[in-house]
This record gives sequence, C-alpha cells and structure tokens, in this order.
Amino acid sequence: MAQASKRLPHNAPGDFYVDASCIDCDTCRWMAPATFTEREDQASVHHQPDTEAGRRRALMALVSCPTGSIGTMEKQDPTRAIEAFPDRVHDNVFHTGFHSESSFGATSYLVAREQGNVLVDSPRFTMPLVRRLEDLGGVSMMFLTHRDDVADHRKFREHFDCERVMHERDLGHGTRDIERPIRGEDPVVLDRDLLVIPTPGHTRGSACLLYRDEFLFTGDHLAWNETRGHIYAFRSACWYDWATLVRSSEKLAAYSFEWILPGHGRRCHFPRERMAAEMDKALTWMREAA
Ligand code: SF4
Repeated sequence: MAQASKRLPHNAPGDFYVDASCIDCDTCRWMAPATFTEREDQASVHHQPDTEAGRRRALMALVSCPTGSIGTMEKQDPTRAIEAFPDRVHDNVFHTGFHSESSFGATSYLVAREQGNVLVDSPRFTMPLVRRLEDLGGVSMMFLTHRDDVADHRKFREHFDCERVMHERDLGHGTRDIERPIRGEDPVVLDRDLLVIPTPGHTRGSACLLYRDEFLFTGDHLAWNETRGHIYAFRSACWYDWATLVRSSEKLAAYSFEWILPGHGRRCHFPRERMAAEMDKALTWMREAA
C-alpha cells in the first residue's frame, strides 16, 4: 500500500501520487497516460485526473500496480475500477489487470472463447479478479509465454483446474509439473484457433501464442516501442541469445496478424499489410542491433 510519507517529489500536487516503492514497470503509464509519466526511472503523476473517466483510469492503474505504489490522499472507492477488469482490448480479448510483482508487472490477458477461456501469462491471484473470471466462464487453459511471467500460475491451476501450457526449455522450479509442455521449435496447434509458435531468444523456451490469426501474444519477445516508434525486442534484457531471437522474429514475420500483445512494452494494432511492413522494419533494426 502506498505511503504518503514516501510520496515522490515529482508528483503533481493533488490527490493521486506515486511513492518511492515504484519499480518502474510502466503499467500505470500505458493504462492512464493522461495521469502518469516517467521521471528519473520511476513513475509519477504529471496531471491530476479532473474528470470521472480520468479518475477511473487512474484507479484502474492503482489496482493494477504490482507494488501498490500508487496512492490517494483522499479516501477513494476503487470498486468500479476493480469491476472494470478484465478490461476489453478488442472483441473477446481482455487485459486482466492486477499485475504481479513477481513477473515485474507483466501484462496478462484473457481470451474468452466458447471452447474454453485462455489466460495468457499470470496476473495476481486476487479474489475480485477470480470472481470476474468465474463469471466469464472460468479458465480452461493457461498459456505461459516464458519462465519470467508465471507468477501465480499454480493458484490459477488449483482454482480453475486449467491445463497449463509452456515450452519445456523454460520449465524450472515451480513449473516442472505443468500439464502440457511444448517441445522443439515447430509450431504446435492447441486448438483450431490457437497456435503456439516457439520463439527462443529472450529465453530458451520463449513462445508466442497466435489466436485466430489475428492476435499475437508475445510475452517478452516483441513489443511496440513508443519512443522509437517501431516494434522492437529487449536488446539489453535478452537472457538467452540475440541471434536466436532475430531468427525467431524472422519466423514470426511469415505469419499474418493484426495485434501484438506483449507482457512488457506496449501493444500495437495495425491492418495486416501495415503489420507486415512494421515487422520488416523491426527485423532491419534487430539485425543492426546485433
Ligand atoms: S504501475 Fe506501479 S510499479 Fe509500475 S510504474 Fe506505475 S507506479 Fe511504478
């Protein structure tokens, strides 16, 4: 829980603030950019929300903050912000909110499908979210993009009896008993609309999930970079091998999709042809960054 005594000095005067416990995960900035910004490697409030909609977005960021670093001077009722999750991204794909500190605030998603809902990476296991997931039909599958963003996967498994899917090369302490390990580097069909594409590089066992040939869940493999204005990969946070990561990205570029939905970094959405061109641009940058 945020502490007013640790309020960062850059915060604009007023109700909302960020305290010194911020780990700079970026969540509040992309969720509520009208309120939060970056100052000296931490978040801070640059503009106090002055509309109902702005306050609601800021409160949604508050409940999603993995470290509880966002606070308000006045007592605020977060009920409506909590009930706003899962928050629709597009169609039947949702942002779950409630980011976990153990995955450094990575974003998790819910794909609501008639054939069974899929959770992509693990949010915090918290009862308000769990109840909302129950209302939406529960979780039948949990796809884990890589070893860093598994957070509360076991609690979701125990509660929903969902099948966990993850590449075997990223299995480790706590994930050795997952139900469906993916092997090798060939794509694996999980269902008619779900394709796992192994994309080693960020970690040995990183993998992306392509849903309906439209939504690509990338974990920490690829994301949109707001500052650079192109799709990029985390060159300074590449834990396995950059050349392998570039090869994996070349493989991905052969697929057609419209959305990139990452764990860290920003999401992006383009028509297919533009997305293909953006992937080409990203590959050029990646080869030069080698
Ligand atoms: S969500 Fe929380 S931890 Fe992440 S940048 Fe914002 S204040 Fe910092």
